[in-house]
Amino acid sequence: MKGFDYFQPGRLEEAYGLMETLGAEAGYIAGGTDILVRMKQKIIAPPALISLRRIEELARMGRDRGLLLGSMTPLRALEKSEEIAASYPCLSQAVGSLANPQIRNVATVGGNLCNAAPSADCAPPLMVLGATLTIGGPGGERTLPVEDFFEGPGRTVLRREEILTGIAIPERVPGTGSAFLKLGRVSQDIAVINAAALVIMEGGVCRTCRLAVGAVAPTPLRLRGVERLVEGRRPDPELLAEVERGVRGEVNPITDVRSTEEYRREVSGVLLRRALEQAVRDVR
Ligand SMILES: Cc1cc2nc3c(=O)[nH]c(=O)nc-3n(C[C@H](O)[C@H](O)[C@H](O)COP(=O)(O)OP(=O)(O)OC[C@H]3O[C@@H](n4cnc5c(N)ncnc54)[C@H](O)[C@@H]3O)c2cc1C
Repeated sequence: MKGFDYFQPGRLEEAYGLMETLGAEAGYIAGGTDILVRMKQKIIAPPALISLRRIEELARMGRDRGLLLGSMTPLRALEKSEEIAASYPCLSQAVGSLANPQIRNVATVGGNLCNAAPSADCAPPLMVLGATLTIGGPGGERTLPVEDFFEGPGRTVLRREEILTGIAIPERVPGTGSAFLKLGRVSQDIAVINAAALVIMEGGVCRTCRLAVGAVAPTPLRLRGVERLVEGRRPDPELLAEVERGVRGEVNPITDVRSTEEYRREVSGVLLRRALEQAVRDVR
């Protein structure tokens, strides 16, 4: 790995300023579990890294009509949170399935999103939970839904100096259930496919349904066509079979080192159906 300069600002404004001064080749580093791997593999060689670790406001977890997560929150903290396990089980299950405890101790939730892998395990659960992202930069702050954040593999809407500062997840409403499922080649592996489902049930009928899937398109994907199919209906075997078929029609997978296009298309239907069934069970 080539040598590089390392900066540890204590405030956001300092970080934006450093990025402006250092120029296009510099990079932000959070936990480093993605960026350092790419540097060691000589895919990238930034001459300078700006660490986000000393910026206290990025590491806060709090409440304000829901849950607020600083982007530097380590995945291990999410995994250990009883509140997240109780109110947002799909997120808890996703972080629990990601890599191994050593990685989860240093990897951050913001890094998982900013890395923009189509298979990022935090993306589908945050999508179905209706999470909103706050992005800070020299010109101020902006917010956007998590599903508008991704532009393609490794690409997000972040401008060069901008930092993902926080993630807001709305309060869980009564009747909500959610689930996350992942298929990997071996345990601790990146997903061949991952999927999250959230339902809000009323008298056995699904009033709201949100479904999201990863690693079957250039970005993590909301399955809005299938969601419309489910809303207003009872999740009976006939509907679940329709969901399986609908998902296969809506995804856009590719063949790569982990799997083939055909396998991903077939299995994404099965995984989403199971995630939906598990989300309905979670309500009870
Ligand atoms: C052995 C191993 C197994 C893994 N398994 C999985 C897995 O099962 N599932 C999975 O999803 N991932 C997996 N990963 C990938 C990685 O651990 C996660 O994506 C992790 O969450 C990245 O977070 P980080 O804080 O380490 O990001 P970093 O590596 O520090 O950063 C990643 C990218 O995001 C940018 N960035 C980070 N934070 C911000 C921010 N706040 N604002 C702006 N830009 C930012 C950085 O500049 C960099 O380009 C694995 C990695 C390894 C090494």
